[in-house]
This record gives sequence, C-alpha cells and structure tokens, in this order.
Amino acid sequence: MTLALPTFHDVLAATDRIAGHAHRTPVLTSRTLNDELGAEVFFKCENFQRMGAFKFRGAFNALSRFDADQRRRGVIAFSSGNHAQAIALAARLMGMPATILMPQDAPAAKVAATRGYGGNVVFFDRYHDDREALGRSLAERDGLTLIPPFDHPDIIAGQGTAALELFEETGPLDALFVPMGGGGLLSGTALTTRVESPACTLYGVEPEAGNDGQQSFRSGQIVRIATPRTIADGAQTSYLGALTFSIIRDKVNDILTVTDAQLIECMQFAASRMKLVIEPTGCLGFAAARAMGRQLQGQRVGVIISGGNVDLADLARYFAPA
Ligand SMILES: *Cc1c(COP(=O)(O)O)cnc(C)c1O
Repeated sequence: MTLALPTFHDVLAATDRIAGHAHRTPVLTSRTLNDELGAEVFFKCENFQRMGAFKFRGAFNALSRFDADQRRRGVIAFSSGNHAQAIALAARLMGMPATILMPQDAPAAKVAATRGYGGNVVFFDRYHDDREALGRSLAERDGLTLIPPFDHPDIIAGQGTAALELFEETGPLDALFVPMGGGGLLSGTALTTRVESPACTLYGVEPEAGNDGQQSFRSGQIVRIATPRTIADGAQTSYLGALTFSIIRDKVNDILTVTDAQLIECMQFAASRMKLVIEPTGCLGFAAARAMGRQLQGQRVGVIISGGNVDLADLARYFAPA
C-alpha cells in the first residue's frame, strides 16, 4: 500500500478534528535560560498533553477518520510506549476497541497505563516472535485497522498541530528544535513550519547513540541501525519511515544529536527552574538548543517538549547527585 504524503492542509483538517479533545498546551519561558543563551526561548509543553505526550494528537486524528465498520471492529497498534497509551485513550474516547501488542518484558507501569486507558494488551516475545507478522495476522483475523506510530499521513498531520499552536502564540521564529524518533513529530512540524514561519531553521534532534536519522539525512537514503542504548526510550527507533523521511529530507535544515548526560542536565534544569517534569526523550530539543549556546544570541527560538512520562524511580535516579 502506498499512502500519499500529507500536506499543511491535512494539518489544518487535523486541528479541527482534535479541537475540544486534545489540550491546547501552554507555551512557557525561562528568564534564566534566556539570560544564559542571550535568546528568547519558547517551550511548547506537550508534557501537559492528554496521556502526557504529543502522540494523542496523531492518534486521535487517525482514529477520527475511521468509517463505521472500522470503528466497530477496532484498532490495533504495537508499542510499549506513548503511542500505545495514545491509541488506547483515543479509542476509548471514541467508543471503539483497541488491541495493543506489547513485549512481555514491557515495564509494568506502561502495561498498567495502557490497560487503564481501556487498551486490550496482547503480549509477544520480543526475542522469538515477529511482532509485525503477529500484528498483521491478528488484524486480518479480527478485521482490525493497524495504526503505526509515525509513518502514516494522519499521524504526521496530527503531530503537526502542536507547532501550529506554537506559531499562533509566538509568530514566526528564527529556529525550532524538535525531538525525533521515527520522525512523525518532526515531519508534521515541518509541514506547519514551512507555511507559518518559512525562514525558520528547523532542527530534528535524536540521541547520539542512535543517530540513524542524521545518517539518513546526510546520505539521502534511509539508514537502519540496531536498537540504540539510550535513556531516551521514545527515540529508540532504528530507522525513519518512508513518508517521514521524504518530508524531513525536503523541509528540515539539519539533524543534531545529544548525549544522555545532556538530557539529564536539561531534565534537572526543567525541574528545578521551571517546575516541569520532562521525560528524557522530551528533552532532546531542549538539550540541542542549550548546546548551541551563544550561537542563538538575539534569536527567537522554539523548543518542543514532547512528553513527560517518566517512571518516578528513574526520575529519582536521574536527579540523584552523582
Ligand atoms: C514518540 C515520541 C517521540 C518521537 O516521535 P516520532 O514521531 O517517532 O519522531 C519523541 N518524544 C516523545 C515523548 C515520544 O513519545
């Protein structure tokens, strides 16, 4: 199946569909950070989105487009992270069944959260089962519609709505830093940015340990890597999607990387200075902006904080003095 690339028009349509269902999240600033960088930085805080991450936007948009038969039969997704929770919650709000395939060793808290939103969790063995084959056979048997976490036009369009809200508040920006895993958030943001703030320098940011996106961007073709070891669990993807890459290659200025240590420093800054709980992946854009330092002097800069779902025990470890 080949799906057409979404456009900014689809982002606008998604904005109408999610209105009244997704939160319009706040845009926050920090005087301390502005002084440090000599810049004006605007944080779009998707850690305050429903279920704690921007993924609710894409999920709700995608499920809104189901026809009556698809709604009756339900949706299937595979994810142990925020996409699972987003699909489960959006499905519950629309009164449709959701099946979520998760690895047997997924963190108990994530399984509980997904079940809490009404998702029917089906486990697989990540070392022996072929997750995609299992998903396809379940989908076929029960007539379920599979919604992938990033490489889908309705997901990409939904994720592009966060940046639209940001530009509505800030006007055009000089630079915008966006966390990147499979590239759904970045490609949706790119559709919006090229219309709302065409001259803005748009950066995708991924963990240094898993820089497949940077390699892909620089080589012009999708590079696949082994699952990276990083605390940024929302960006442990090993390759970009065909749709997301095609948009990113065309509309993004560069892909940057940051280390886990830089992420932890930013989580600490956000907690102590801004009273914000941000998950490691959610800090990717912030960490890259901070690393650029005085190069941003005099600029108006946007940062998307993509999510805040972090285990409290992990948070305590990240915050413990070294
Ligand atoms: C999924 C996720 C990302 C990465 O998004 P992609 O669309 O896969 O690039 C970043 N941050 C958080 C918090 C996420 O849940």
